[in-house]
Amino acid sequence: MITIIGGGAIGLCTAYFLHKEGQEVQVIESSRSNEASGCSHGNAGMIVPSHFTPLAAPGVISQGLKWLFNSKSPFYIKPRLNKDLLHWMWLFARSANQKNILRVGDQLFRLNHASRNLYEDIIKEEDLKVAYQRQGLMMLYQTEHVEAEEQHLAIEASILGIKSDILSPQEVAKLETDFEFNIRGGVHYHSDAHLDPGSFMVQLKDYLLKAGVDIHYDVQCHGFKSTGNKLTHVNTNKGLFESQKVVVAAGVWSRTLSENLGVHIPLQGGKGYSLTIKKPPLQLKIPSILCERKIAITPMGENLRLAGTMEIAGMDRTINEHRLQGIKDGVNQYLKNFEMDWVENVTPWTGLRPVSPDGMPYIGKCKDWDNLFINTGHAMMGVSLAPISGEVLKDIILKKPVKFNTEILSPDRF
Ligand SMILES: Cc1cc2nc3c(=O)[nH]c(=O)nc-3n(C[C@H](O)[C@H](O)[C@H](O)COP(=O)(O)OP(=O)(O)OC[C@H]3O[C@@H](n4cnc5c(N)ncnc54)[C@H](O)[C@@H]3O)c2cc1C
Repeated sequence: MITIIGGGAIGLCTAYFLHKEGQEVQVIESSRSNEASGCSHGNAGMIVPSHFTPLAAPGVISQGLKWLFNSKSPFYIKPRLNKDLLHWMWLFARSANQKNILRVGDQLFRLNHASRNLYEDIIKEEDLKVAYQRQGLMMLYQTEHVEAEEQHLAIEASILGIKSDILSPQEVAKLETDFEFNIRGGVHYHSDAHLDPGSFMVQLKDYLLKAGVDIHYDVQCHGFKSTGNKLTHVNTNKGLFESQKVVVAAGVWSRTLSENLGVHIPLQGGKGYSLTIKKPPLQLKIPSILCERKIAITPMGENLRLAGTMEIAGMDRTINEHRLQGIKDGVNQYLKNFEMDWVENVTPWTGLRPVSPDGMPYIGKCKDWDNLFINTGHAMMGVSLAPISGEVLKDIILKKPVKFNTEILSPDRF
């Protein structure tokens, strides 16, 4: 029996690929229901082969410092004297350079690209209704400085084979006929897709349950039993679960869980918010990122979701009204005919992204244990990368050839 701890997008996709290979799998999830779990439901649902640059990129630290005292800013690190945070920040600063982009960019692109194709396979094979569309992604900008940056990125992307068009405001308006934009222009990447992540989670869970995979909700793992270098049981509030292999896929909570086993994976929670407008009178066709404000807007079926902010502020999930207002104001600045009263009574959602310091997830076996595997740290790309992360870890567990650089993904790399 393979026990997966965590029933978010990463845990469920790992269960899916292992089950498809005929493995006996069970999932342990501390939330009462699939809908209430971690970070995988209310996010922006973007599947992003175009995102080949990690969060740790040149310029992000100076930008972060500029935003430090702005209560509505999209990126914020709450200063705290905490050993894990300081170590993470040091690793983050060490990775925020062009060398890191060159090291991980190609892998990130190939992982995201393969993941998008796997989404198309899963959706078709299991007949999932998840509002999946492949309309690409639009990066919209207002300033000359960001225009230059985005156009430069589009050229770098083309070297990796990622196609895009650089659009004038008039050309954006031709594609997006409902909204009037206040922009200098945009870059339209053709490779990207989007879906309703909440629907995907619910339907994947239903598929797995029907297929005979046990998903134990309301069960919290708080430790392990082992003999020598081998884990034998997962210890929970509902008793011991015998396990031949264990996968920790518990999102941002994976750090403390694996620390119980002497495995240290630098990981911080990156809090973000979303607001879902039900049936707005105007609708986008193509998901967009409002570059200067780092806000994502995604059409999801009849609804429109606004998402943003990255607050590295511990495990706190309270809503910061200033940052929420920052998202609303930001959208209003780019979309001239966006009405503030569409978001007035919308209940905000919040989630903690599991953020690694170098922008790469942790996918692999832990060297000090014979049967412990990790799948987490996907930060802003956990939905996008969920299927390929499940497939890669399945191959690692079953000792099959892996088509990606496993050293870059190793949980032991720091
Ligand atoms: C505002 C926002 C917008 C985003 N937009 C996008 C996007 O457009 N595209 C994209 O790719 N990504 C996006 N993301 C990131 C994405 O949501 C995450 O990377 C992804 O959901 C992480 O999935 P996960 O399965 O690792 O973690 P989670 O979804 O958090 O799942 C972990 C699960 O483990 C469970 N758990 C924890 N501890 C235990 C325990 N001890 N025992 C049992 N169970 C436990 C939790 O209850 C939880 O359900 C966004 C995130 C935010 C916040």
